[in-house]
Amino acid sequence: MKHWLGMVAVWIAAPAFAAPLPFVLKQVGPGVYAAIDGPEHKAGSNAGFVIGDDGVLVVDAFFNVDAARALVGEIHRLTPKPIRFLVNTHYHADHTGGDQALRDAGAVIIAHKNVRGWVRTNNINLFGDRITPELKSRLEALPLPDLTTNTDLTVWLGARKVVVQTVLGHTGGDLTIAVPDAKVLFTGDMLWRKIAPNLIDGSVNEWMATDAALAAMPDAARITYVPGHGDLADQSDVEDFIVYLRDLRRLVSEGRISGLRDEALAQSVVPKLKALHPDWTISDRAAAAEVRYMDQELAGTKRRPVPVPD
Ligand SMILES: [Zn+2]
Repeated sequence: MKHWLGMVAVWIAAPAFAAPLPFVLKQVGPGVYAAIDGPEHKAGSNAGFVIGDDGVLVVDAFFNVDAARALVGEIHRLTPKPIRFLVNTHYHADHTGGDQALRDAGAVIIAHKNVRGWVRTNNINLFGDRITPELKSRLEALPLPDLTTNTDLTVWLGARKVVVQTVLGHTGGDLTIAVPDAKVLFTGDMLWRKIAPNLIDGSVNEWMATDAALAAMPDAARITYVPGHGDLADQSDVEDFIVYLRDLRRLVSEGRISGLRDEALAQSVVPKLKALHPDWTISDRAAAAEVRYMDQELAGTKRRPVPVPD
């Protein structure tokens, strides 16, 4: 009888009854987890968390609030410790869209200084003609960060050290989050693994320099890099991403020199870029946008978000 009751308890608690998670949780170190967006992109981006002595620090909150709530659920399943901090790697809605779920769970929201001025306004640009009134009002109501910085920060979870660093390249307000004792680096969108990156706010030149430094960190060969998009990465993936950006810049530059512009430039560059990186996911829409933004950067006409005074 006792055994049977035990079986019932296990049966009730079995995850078969829960909706499938919109991400795959992967342990990358002691108490360090990456939440990798599934193939259907229901979460919108990757996230993760660090369980310290006296609390939890979460990195990014997906695009979907439901996915962020599911992440909170997974954290509560793994530890009774409180969720103390959320660090947003940058302002883009695919990383901040679920912030309210983390705030509701008790987190103080940490972000780069510029995120506060951009998160409710510039995110609208990300969606272009796909914006709807519902999405616009959701973006305009995103939580503002509580604690902003334009310099490196160390966050202590008891004795556990988490290093938040400012980096250049993706938006003008980017942070990476390192867990030195686990050799894990959450890169945000400074790294995309085998997926064409979004250059809308980026500087490819700055981005490549930052990633060269990430690939050359002490102990880089033993670091697990958690990218903003794509599966868990290692040093060779960071190098592969730099090669991708370098190829994009070279191909766009060569096309420009031979007089190609706009549609003709994209038609020349995109097949070559895909041929050089056959194992990458490069949608035609993403590729055309990359060529356009790279062209603007080389022409000196690229518009990047402008910091808003506090
Ligand atoms: Zn992203």
